[in-house]
Amino acid sequence: MPTYDKSRAKLAEAKQVLAGGVASTLRGSMKPTPLYVESASGVIVKDVDGNEYIDYQLAYGPLILGHAHAGFNERIANAMAKGITYGLQHDGEIELARRLTEVLPCADKVVLSGSGTEAVMLALRLSRAYTGKRKVVRFHGHYHGWSDSIFTSFPSPDMMQKATSAAADSVPPGTKGQSELSLQDVILLPWNEPEALEAALRANASDIAAVISEPVMCNSGCILPKPGYLEKIRELTRELGIVFIMDEVITGFRLGAGGAHGRFGITPDLVTVGKALGGGIAVSAVGGSKEIFELIDTEQVSHLGTLNGNGVATAAGLAVLELMTENDGAVYGTMEDNALKLVGGIRSLFAKHDIRGVVNQIGPVFHFMFIDEDEVNHFDTFQKRDSGKYAKFAQLMLEEGVLVRPNGLWYISAVHESSHIDATLQAIDRVFVRLAEG
Ligand code: PLP
Repeated sequence: MPTYDKSRAKLAEAKQVLAGGVASTLRGSMKPTPLYVESASGVIVKDVDGNEYIDYQLAYGPLILGHAHAGFNERIANAMAKGITYGLQHDGEIELARRLTEVLPCADKVVLSGSGTEAVMLALRLSRAYTGKRKVVRFHGHYHGWSDSIFTSFPSPDMMQKATSAAADSVPPGTKGQSELSLQDVILLPWNEPEALEAALRANASDIAAVISEPVMCNSGCILPKPGYLEKIRELTRELGIVFIMDEVITGFRLGAGGAHGRFGITPDLVTVGKALGGGIAVSAVGGSKEIFELIDTEQVSHLGTLNGNGVATAAGLAVLELMTENDGAVYGTMEDNALKLVGGIRSLFAKHDIRGVVNQIGPVFHFMFIDEDEVNHFDTFQKRDSGKYAKFAQLMLEEGVLVRPNGLWYISAVHESSHIDATLQAIDRVFVRLAEG
């Protein structure tokens, strides 16, 4: 049986000097204890107690090339040798921006920033400036970063577990310390309900600057949009003079080089990308129409950030795009095959062990939940999952050498192999037995 004594001791040490003991609130909820890493390579993470895990958490998404990828690291090292950041311009910015406009169908131009949260902040600001309106429509169960103007209670068992069924006129803040006034311009709606959307947009069109949506509800159940739903958002926003922001911080470069909007053939006005773009290095971007970016070209809208477009960040973005698109992007097929094999295996194990569960998958990302339903197509259904049982499952999986997020979202990287999937399915088989034993 693995032990976690050294990780526990390090957490206690960290708590003396690091508020909360972890660097991002979400990480503190890991059971039996937040892990401290010794090293990581490929899809294997080794903790300070000497335990090894096959990693499906992938640092909450960015590690599409796995850990310490040789080709990626070489490109980063070469960039660092030329100086990390200049506060001046360099070719890497132009090259990454050009590459992004090539792969992201909706992007005539881009801006570069450091995190998904910042990209969303800029997209909201641009929308308000472009339309001259204030309000923003967002949806239950989606997450768009932690800035005060958009962060509302987050429906994750490993974070703040609060009700999210507030009426449209009382959007609950996501955390203490966030002014409720900062959400006064937010209209919170159920997702995947075209009638509710149409009614709210038509009633408030003269006030609404933007609709922001994940294209697939990856943060809550990996729920796919109903056929025609994203098209409906596109049509209505176009008709009513509202900016459509697709938040592709998870789906970007993961559901294909062109993200979800490339895959689904829908063109939002603005797209936000981050996570996988940097392969683990902090870089994000907003892409969109040149009409909207004219506001930045003409300096009517400010976009700031000391480290924006630094040499390491641009090298990281270029490295991910180069490595993921070589051989015509064949690796996307491999990732999808591995995801299908793993998901198919999990469903068979549900049947074998007589366990009620659902796995929603698209490309190399899926959500695994224990739930007494045949399918999960709506946030309200997702809320019925047994998150306690899943948290227990995640803890037992750690003991079996598999690292998964305690909320059920799994990522497959370009370097997972069939043998990892086989080993993972064997671990799940054993864990299902242990779960039944209580
Ligand atoms: N948007 C979405 C859809 C996300 O899932 C996240 C992070 O999980 C963000 C925005 C915020 O990104 P970051 O954590 O890089 O600030």
